[in-house]
Amino acid sequence: LADPAAKVASVAGSPHPSIPLPIRLYGNSRDNSSGIDLADEQVLGTLATKIASPLPSRERSDSAPSPSRERGPSDVAAAVTAAQAAFPTWSTTPPESRADALERLADLLERDRESLMAICVHEARKTIPDALAEVREAVDFCRYYAAEARTQFLPLQLPGPTGERNELRLEGRGVFACIAPWNFPLAIFLGQVGAALVAGNTVVAKPAPQTPLIAAAAVALAHEAGIPAGALQLVTGGGEIGEALVRDPRIMGVAFTGSTPTARRIARALLDDESRPLVPFIAETGGINAMIVDSTALTEQVVQDVITSAFRSAGQRCSALRLLLVQDDVADRTLEMLGGAMDTLVIGNPADPATDVGPVIDDAAFTRLETYRQAQQPRWLHALPAPATGDFVAPTVIALDAIADLKEEWFGPLLHVVRWKAGELPATIAAVNALGYGLTMGLHSRIASVAAVVTHGAHVGNLYINRSMIGAVVGSQPFGGEGRSGTGFKAGGPHYLLRFVHERTVSTDT
Ligand code: GLU
Repeated sequence: LADPAAKVASVAGSPHPSIPLPIRLYGNSRDNSSGIDLADEQVLGTLATKIASPLPSRERSDSAPSPSRERGPSDVAAAVTAAQAAFPTWSTTPPESRADALERLADLLERDRESLMAICVHEARKTIPDALAEVREAVDFCRYYAAEARTQFLPLQLPGPTGERNELRLEGRGVFACIAPWNFPLAIFLGQVGAALVAGNTVVAKPAPQTPLIAAAAVALAHEAGIPAGALQLVTGGGEIGEALVRDPRIMGVAFTGSTPTARRIARALLDDESRPLVPFIAETGGINAMIVDSTALTEQVVQDVITSAFRSAGQRCSALRLLLVQDDVADRTLEMLGGAMDTLVIGNPADPATDVGPVIDDAAFTRLETYRQAQQPRWLHALPAPATGDFVAPTVIALDAIADLKEEWFGPLLHVVRWKAGELPATIAAVNALGYGLTMGLHSRIASVAAVVTHGAHVGNLYINRSMIGAVVGSQPFGGEGRSGTGFKAGGPHYLLRFVHERTVSTDT
């Protein structure tokens, strides 16, 4: 598509042709109910102006919206104190009023959509379609958890032979620490925070050190929406701040999205101090995600879904495809078509609507990924040229001999390929399971019994059949893994809020 506006609209709005659109529940990323229309020239114009206008950047963070400076451990303690002081009032605010506040926040996110998208482009280096999806998903989380709270948090009257009135109540636990990643710095940030708040907790939120500005903008909107300032505190900074936060004995639960090693450190910190209460730890971590392709798959569809899953968002999604497992009989054809499709990708400035693949998040990520990519050069099957300056990692396909050769999650646009032979499907699934992660998996096959074998055999949280394997829709595709990929319950699913509450049974003599 020559026209960039049309290209943006097609990328942002196009559902997969073989997947029916979900029923419209929320302003989800496959649906335009959030009112953001990138085919609309006026929206694109406003967005372009916002992107062009100087935003406070990481390099100039002294001009960032408040709170702007990096915090120290004593600021963390002060934030926990303030959140604890706000708990009695917020936790006894009726759930429907807390849900109202979350819905007002969703409205404000829609009101400020272009500004928020512009910050995502600048600060998180998101492409315009990804920035759009980011705002929509943040809206979805707010509306979904608000709706769930309205029904789930009604006191439950329990029958019984005791002659008493028995009531089961769900109560907030206290101060929650919400620790968010840079790859979904608005959506996951507000997903965690919104869930914790609507469940009756107060929150100290810590965004990733790469993305404090979008978090500050989100917190300002939450306060404008009527969430008391004390109930939602923001602390910014790196690991030292996170450590101080989770080691504060007044923290009554942690919601974390990030790497598996960091999740382990947090789990240890929560258990080290024997005088502390035992608190819930909700972790959503990484994955070495595979897509299995058998000889009955439609190659054109496979190629489109591989491009989307491995290279969109520069591969910086936990759900992204890392390991393509293709049946030998169709491997040559599939890889040749994949190379051709990759050649059409536009790598460049994320603020340009024509861009498909932007830079990775920062210099450190670039160096890590690029060093590994270069070391794999003898195994390259296809590598695109990337701009020489800027943190651009070239989308690259790397051949491996065995699934077990992929030892870690490479969080960028690098795709590994292993071939398998007819009859090896169970061994292939077992080898993926043996990697120890369990987040997403893709399958392309036209055989129902193959789908059944993979569905029952694969230890993953989200299995995508004959479609791409990214972009879980809030309320329709609850997201989260097992094994080293996370603890559950799934974000955007009906059980998530239950991890944030105490259950209290009240039995009254009648
Ligand atoms: N929910 C996102 C998706 O389905 C991934 C979340 C993440 O990367 O943490 O693509």
